[in-house]
Amino acid sequence: MGQKCTKIYPCGSCSATCAFECVYCITSANWYHRQCQSMSDKELRQWGQLELDYVCTTCRSLNGSMFDFVSALQRLGMVNLAKLTAAVDRELLFKPRLSIPVKQHTDFPIADSNAAYIMANYVDDVYGNPITNTGDGNCLYNAISILLHGNESLATQLRYLTCIQLVKNMGAYMNHPLSMKHVLMQI
Ligand SMILES: [Zn+2]
Ligand SMILES: [Zn+2]
Repeated sequence: MGQKCTKIYPCGSCSATCAFECVYCITSANWYHRQCQSMSDKELRQWGQLELDYVCTTCRSLNGSMFDFVSALQRLGMVNLAKLTAAVDRELLFKPRLSIPVKQHTDFPIADSNAAYIMANYVDDVYGNPITNTGDGNCLYNAISILLHGNESLATQLRYLTCIQLVKNMGAYMNHPLSMKHVLMQI
């Protein structure tokens, strides 16, 4: 990655020969000029130092434009703990385009009548109305997404951001009074 190509390969973007300053996408198995990947000199050097493979702009996008947070989470999930920091550094080099639009909303999902019953009968100082969210392993992120945005569409992005935040600040979180060491591994 970032090294001089020894054979002649056409660039996956412009089709001209990749002779030098090119990167190899492990997903599409294409070479690219660094300029065709909007990559600076400095970023090319950073890629050369990173022990994980490059993924091109197309392969890390949905429909060629939106950053694909689902495949990004899969990339993070594929590495072992020893490479987790490198995997997060790689994600930051991808410069994911984040979009957390917080909007005013009144269109909450349907109320959770079971939770409402339990709260009404067994909980002191009830406030608010419980609502349902999807129990698909992302319920925390689904709930935060609903609070921020009125629906669950931001859950994957929030989960991805949480992973990056936790790994980049691992020391602080591991030493936090409320932390349990295995929590990091489960996210
Ligand atoms: Zn090119
Ligand atoms: Zn690719």
